[in-house]
Formats: sequence, structure tokens, C-alpha cells
Amino acid sequence: MIKFLDLYKINNRFRDAFQASFSKSLDDAHFILGNNVSTFENEFAAYCGTEFCVGTANGLDALTLILKGYVQLGKLQKGDKVIVPANTFIATILSVLHAELVPVLVEPNPDTYTISVDTDKALFREAKAVIMVHLYGQLADVGGFHKIAQDFNLLLIEDAAQAHGATSNLNNRKAGNLSDAAAFSFYPTKNLGALGDGGGVTTNDSELVDVIKLLRNYGSEEKYTNKVIGFNSRLDDMQAAFLSIKLKALDRDNKRRREIANAYLKGIKNSKFKLPFYDGSENHIFYAFVVEVDDRTNFTEFLNKNKIEWLIHYPIPPHQQEALNEFSHFKLPLTEKIHKRIISLPMSPVMTEHDIQTVIDVLNTY
Ligand SMILES: *Cc1c(COP(=O)(O)O)cnc(C)c1O
Repeated sequence: MIKFLDLYKINNRFRDAFQASFSKSLDDAHFILGNNVSTFENEFAAYCGTEFCVGTANGLDALTLILKGYVQLGKLQKGDKVIVPANTFIATILSVLHAELVPVLVEPNPDTYTISVDTDKALFREAKAVIMVHLYGQLADVGGFHKIAQDFNLLLIEDAAQAHGATSNLNNRKAGNLSDAAAFSFYPTKNLGALGDGGGVTTNDSELVDVIKLLRNYGSEEKYTNKVIGFNSRLDDMQAAFLSIKLKALDRDNKRRREIANAYLKGIKNSKFKLPFYDGSENHIFYAFVVEVDDRTNFTEFLNKNKIEWLIHYPIPPHQQEALNEFSHFKLPLTEKIHKRIISLPMSPVMTEHDIQTVIDVLNTY
């Protein structure tokens, strides 16, 4: 069986360091917002090239707290429109709803699958913010959206939950430092994943940082003094310690993922698949290696028979989910078509050469 993502193998590489940091935390007994959180926040900000990082409980909260933070600061108002890609994980859209803002769903670029710059300009004119999702680990059109944000006076936000370490060809900056504020998830399957839930915001905006630090901790700076209506959304201290350990391996792991992607792109020679667009640079960290195929059900059966695990990111677009039926009127044929045709192949830094070759060989015999 070729695993889609072998979480045991990925994390077992760090077993001794994890156990040492667990023992230390047990000894220190400072479990909430301890030193591990501030240490990781500083390390991750330095890694991304931003001035600040604020740890949160998960990626959805990181997005939501950015938007709530802007509302608190008066930069966004309840009911303002926020442009979001229709082709994304549902969290992007939920964050807008949780902040009492109005998501406007738009189509992706058919090759990169990230939010298209060729969106109707009238939509940008009516909006107050736009969220670029660096989907599957590939940066959205950063240059294009910097211009759009400037032209239409929009707040630009990154959903970088799948893009830790992806680096722009334009300015050599990393995901997290390509907008006004960025949200990360450290969910275990992400390229930088904890051993439980975790998230974070990166930004150079000190006002926003102050508000998010309040919002994540009951609106409180000082214990039992509550300045705003807050949440409980702190990054867990133990998870922060694990993330500091794994951060050191992130660049190496991302490089390995790119090597695997290059091997797939070179090795898979079968016109039944549309392979992903990749410009060969570090702007992609291959959180997922996504191919398109006509008869997906038939292909998944073929993969099952050949003992290759697969996933679909994602099988049903957000606007067709029962939870979001208020958006079912959106006409998004490209998003709907992509969701019917895509499938993700095994991809992780712990795949062996034999695993990689087997995937290539099996696809070439389909
Ligand atoms: C994983 C993910 C999120 C949400 O992260 P959680 O930590 O699961 O809350 C948001 N957006 C995208 C694109 C993601 O892949």
C-alpha cells in the first residue's frame, strides 16, 4: 500500500525531540501561552519575514480573527463584501461569515486553480477585502492581486494554510508576507503540521496584532480585565513546542516535495491526465499534487486495485454544500467542473524512490 500521507513516518523522525520537549513542559507546568508559544511566534515570523506572528487555536480562527480584528479597528464594517475564491476549502468562506461579512465567490484560473485576476472588476469595486488562497501550496497571482488591491483600495489577506514556505518569484518573499495579513493552519496534515490543532497570523501591522492578541484571549491583556468581546483561541503551548522542532525541517521537506512533483511531472506520460501547472520555482510547496481526469470514479477504482491511496481536495465545492445553500445561486461552472475532475496523488517528504516510481508506473498503465 502506498500511503497518501504517512503521518506516523513524518512525525517519527522527530520522536526524541518531541519527547524531550514534552518532559520539559511537564516540568515547567506553564501550559497556556507559555514560553513555547512566544518562541514559536518569533521563529515563525522570522521564517516568513514578517514583524509579527500571533498563534491561534487553528487556521479557521486565524482567518476569522484577522477579519474580526479589522472590524474591531474600523477597517471593515459588518456587511462589507469580501472576494474569496469559490475553489477553496470551506474554512476560507466560513471565516467571512463568522466575521459577519459577505463572501463574494469568484472563479479560479483554470491552470493554477488559484483565484483569477480576470474577475469582473465591478466585483472588486464593490468589495472591501480580498482573500487569496495559495491553493495546494502554490502562491496565487501575487503581483496581480497587489495591483488589484491598490487599484480598488482593498485589504489583501492570504489564506496560507497550505503554503508554509512558498516563496514569490517577484520579490523573494514568503507566503505570510505577501499581503496585509495572512492566516496559517498547523493542522497535522499541512506541510508544517502540529500533533493536534494549531494556527497563526503573520503580519507587519502592529495594531492588528494587538487586537488579535486580545481577541484570542477573552479580550484580555491582563487577567480578568476584558477590553473587547473575545474568544478562546490560543495556540496550545505544547503544540508550539512541537512546531518549533518541525519548523527546522520545513525547507528540506518542501524541497523534497518539489523533487517528487518534478519526478511525477517528468515520469507520468499518459494523455488521460491533465498534470498540474508548475513553473519550476519555489512558489509551490506541493501540499497536494492534483491531476484532472475524465472518469474519476473509474480511476479511483483503478488506484484502489493497485493499492495507491488518494484523496480529493475537494469533492464538493463550498457553494454546493448544504451548509452554504444561500450561495447555491452563484454560477461557478469552472469551479464545479474542477471539483468533478480532480484527484490528489500521494505526496509527502517521506515517500521512497520506490513509492514514487510505483505511482508513476501505475498511472502510465491506466
Ligand atoms: C486547512 C485549511 C484551513 C483551515 O485550517 P484548520 O486549522 O483546519 O482550521 C483553511 N484554509 C485552507 C485553504 C486550508 O487548507
